[in-house]
Amino acid sequence: MRFKRYGAGIAKGMALTLKHLWRRPITVEYPEERLIPSKRFRGYELVWYPERCTACATCAKACPQGNIEIVTSRGEGDMYKVEKFEVDTGRCMFDGLCVESCPFNALAMGQSYERSSYCRGQVVLSKEELTISEERQPSGYARPEIEALQPEQTLLIYRTGGVR
Ligand code: SF4
Repeated sequence: MRFKRYGAGIAKGMALTLKHLWRRPITVEYPEERLIPSKRFRGYELVWYPERCTACATCAKACPQGNIEIVTSRGEGDMYKVEKFEVDTGRCMFDGLCVESCPFNALAMGQSYERSSYCRGQVVLSKEELTISEERQPSGYARPEIEALQPEQTLLIYRTGGVR
């Protein structure tokens, strides 16, 4: 009676343990080892397109934290020139409201998740640091035209040197 009550559970538990005993580990020793997220991952970074930005400051007004600071000067004709476009990512919640509110698709959420820093000043990003580049690429979040070009989601994470 006692074995029936507890023995079956223990046997099931041990079977599960044995099943996973020889499996390849699913964790890595970060930061020495790193995983590469799926291309469809919506990361914790902002990507800025300087040529699209009109300095309208809609994103800055949409931010509930007041994290975006924009300084402009008079440009050619009716246009404004962006002198400063700074985001305090240390206070950022990455809610994406700035991205969703931009009427010119000049902001996007990126694909990176690494934001740790030893210095507080390094998490306040300038327009040069926010600008789209080879390393700083947009995700498909709130950008269906980018999402349409991304591979279909099958695995969440890829390991360096091959698909896990
Ligand atoms: S990023 Fe978009 S919302 Fe923000 S100032 Fe530029 S154009 Fe306006």
